[in-house]
Amino acid sequence: MKTIGVLTSGGDAPGMNAAIRAVVRAGIYNNIKVMGIERGYNGLINGNIKEMNLSSVADIIHRGGTVLKTARCEEFKTEEGRKKALNVLKVFGIEGLVVIGGDGSFTGAQKLSEAGIKTIGIPGTIDNDLAYTDYTIGFDTALNTVLDAITKIRDTSASHGRANIVEVMGRHCGDIALYAGLAGGAESVIVPEEEFSIDDVCRKLIQGRSRGKLHSIIMLAEGIGGNAFELGKEIEEVTGIETKVTVLGHIQRGGNPSAFDRILASKLGAKAVSLLIEGKSGRVVGMKDHKIIDMDIHEALSMERQFDKETYKLTKILSI
Ligand code: ATP
Repeated sequence: MKTIGVLTSGGDAPGMNAAIRAVVRAGIYNNIKVMGIERGYNGLINGNIKEMNLSSVADIIHRGGTVLKTARCEEFKTEEGRKKALNVLKVFGIEGLVVIGGDGSFTGAQKLSEAGIKTIGIPGTIDNDLAYTDYTIGFDTALNTVLDAITKIRDTSASHGRANIVEVMGRHCGDIALYAGLAGGAESVIVPEEEFSIDDVCRKLIQGRSRGKLHSIIMLAEGIGGNAFELGKEIEEVTGIETKVTVLGHIQRGGNPSAFDRILASKLGAKAVSLLIEGKSGRVVGMKDHKIIDMDIHEALSMERQFDKETYKLTKILSI
């Protein structure tokens, strides 16, 4: 393999830069030319491609976002769009492609693989919503960002004797809410995977107050389908405790990647390149039981995510 390409696609995640760096440096180390494709599949269709060198990935391992930029591209979902992309790959002589993104991006990669381009997917999304891997790049950093926010909210919550709902990202996957809730000592954790009862949430708040607790944090994943502000009003009405809502939003996507995410991204980037060198295609890389693994994309995408019920139970036990 003489030339490979790398792109980031879907939502950005801290650590994507570390993964790009690893792909570029591992490629060059193995005498492979590495082309950087800008703005995901958009750049692929439009030929926004430049050769990367050792310096183009210097000083980026610690930076959030993605130097290649990212995008969502509707055109790539069409046969026509993908034909254009395949043509561009041919023109640039790109024989292998590393796609850094989430499940949607992997579906796109799978289609390219079926069309004869060797593709490898690296999981880059803060949601941690891919079943085949224990961690996606960006999740750990997002978790720490949320934890930092909770710590600050806790200070003001205690000073005023308020309850605080903290809404975090996770449309279908409550991992950020769950683990930040555990690490931040939240009173209640509300996730899309588990039914919740507002009566339970209120009872906990009242019990906490009666034993002199000054602050209360309720972690809420955005995917539960309700409105955080309405929930706050309802809790306030039932308990009589002033309840504030903080929606953390895109702050969770930014920031310097944590050590964990940089290490994970570096290992996965290098693994993706070695798979391409071995002639592999249509595979994704990830981490299972602290080991770097690779798996068929189709198989990975068809796996059903297992929600961590044990940890969820633990958040309940520890917040009595
Ligand atoms: P995140 O988890 O951050 O949302 P993602 O990779 O799942 O990341 P999507 O918006 O679902 O984000 O997908 C990113 C891009 O992948 C899409 O904009 C599109 O270009 C491509 N893609 C998604 N689904 C398909 C599909 N079925 N066929 C071809 N390409 C697809």
